[in-house]
Amino acid sequence: MSDLTRMTATKLAGLIKGGDVSAVEVATAHLDRIEAVDPQVHAFLHVDREGALAAAAEVDAGDKSSPLAGVPIAVKDVMATKGVPTTAASKILEGWRPPYDATIVERLRAAGTVMLGKTNMDEFAMGSSTEYSAYGPTNNPWDLGRIPGGSGGGSAASLAAYEAPLAIGTDTGGSIRQPGAVTGTVGAKPTYGGTSRYGLIAFSSSLDTPGPCARNVADAALLHSVIAGHDPRDSTSIAQPVPDVVAAAKRGSEGDLTGVKLGLVKEFAGDGSEPGVLAAFRESLDALVKLGAEVVEVSCPHFQYALPAYYLIAPSECSSNLARFDGVRYGLRTGDDGNRSLEEVMSLTREAGFGPEVKRRIILGTYALSSGYYDAYYGQAQKVRTLITRDFESAFEQVDVLVSPTTPFVAFPFGSRTSDPYQMYLADLFTIPTNLYGGPAISVPCGLSEGLPVGFQVMAPTMADDRMYRVAAALESAVGTFTPPAL
Ligand code: GLN
Repeated sequence: MSDLTRMTATKLAGLIKGGDVSAVEVATAHLDRIEAVDPQVHAFLHVDREGALAAAAEVDAGDKSSPLAGVPIAVKDVMATKGVPTTAASKILEGWRPPYDATIVERLRAAGTVMLGKTNMDEFAMGSSTEYSAYGPTNNPWDLGRIPGGSGGGSAASLAAYEAPLAIGTDTGGSIRQPGAVTGTVGAKPTYGGTSRYGLIAFSSSLDTPGPCARNVADAALLHSVIAGHDPRDSTSIAQPVPDVVAAAKRGSEGDLTGVKLGLVKEFAGDGSEPGVLAAFRESLDALVKLGAEVVEVSCPHFQYALPAYYLIAPSECSSNLARFDGVRYGLRTGDDGNRSLEEVMSLTREAGFGPEVKRRIILGTYALSSGYYDAYYGQAQKVRTLITRDFESAFEQVDVLVSPTTPFVAFPFGSRTSDPYQMYLADLFTIPTNLYGGPAISVPCGLSEGLPVGFQVMAPTMADDRMYRVAAALESAVGTFTPPAL
């Protein structure tokens, strides 16, 4: 059998179902690969060899009917996993083993996927480079001296390093798509409410969206179909059928986009994208036109305010969500010597347990929500959010999807954007508008710039997740997939 770690999830599932290979063999190949390369990549915060082999043995002994039975998967460490350490890459949760599974994890287990372990990320999913993990950064398999994107850098890097064929990410402002773009992998943010947030450690509850990461569009669609759908335990979960994303990806891969209108956002031009990124994007656009698509320029005048609005809304919600880390209920407790007050212990615990970016956001959010400033900052940002939603709605009256580069730049060297938070925030210039609107968006690799991957973003109307998979699969059929130089 050729190298199992190089295969797609779809292929692995077929081989396991057909009895050509056992789920235990597939899990072992990936666990061995992790052991061999993860000391260099550091995609994982925790590898669950025992749990993975037990889950695989269960698949071998039992039901293989689910479409992903026996396929290994890596899960971002922001998802609660019963009995398996879950830290959100923060010191404040070191040693916490959740007593329950997130809904998504529950669905993954029910589908017979084999969880290999938990992946590295920016602390509490705040960042764009995984440099803000309290446990050290993940290295991009394309160039170990560069960032793998963030916050879900570990999930994306685990795919690019062939440690896992599938991974779970979460996207609040771009954390699935941007790591996908800079590692040459596929990352999809479903419609907000299309995937359950139950058991996801909350960052910004009105934006947080779990979603699939894979090495190709068909695999991402398959994973999407397994995790998506209504969850009564999540009050913002959408009680509607999940669009048939698997069929849409299949249709797209046939390479016919006749009649499909792609909207090019006028306001995204002249945004300081690297020339190599723009060149790869333009070439991909030409490839889509050759498949029959039509390109139409549309105006979204409020997109320019998306970044400032996001950096008020997300920190505001995080300042409230992170109040639960108080040294009493979970993880770390500092300074509890019997003489200190509850407030003192709480404050010492939070001082020791949170990293600088998390503290920055809690302070910013607390300020923006404080009485006297609430209307001027949070209230104003919510109004901008409505205007951005209207921009999307009017654009989708003219076109089927919007397209853009996923990120303005390719993977950057470590340390090059940490000194100025704004430089880091710019990584999400093109991904954030979608989060404020709530629609689905996908990043698909479209070419290389100076030897590093470039991502192409397709944004669709809410609950039209199938549409973005169709266009992404068509693009993939034209430009192929991208593999990093061997590790
Ligand atoms: N990079 C953005 C931020 O720092 C988005 C993070 C995310 O999507 N989780 O907030």
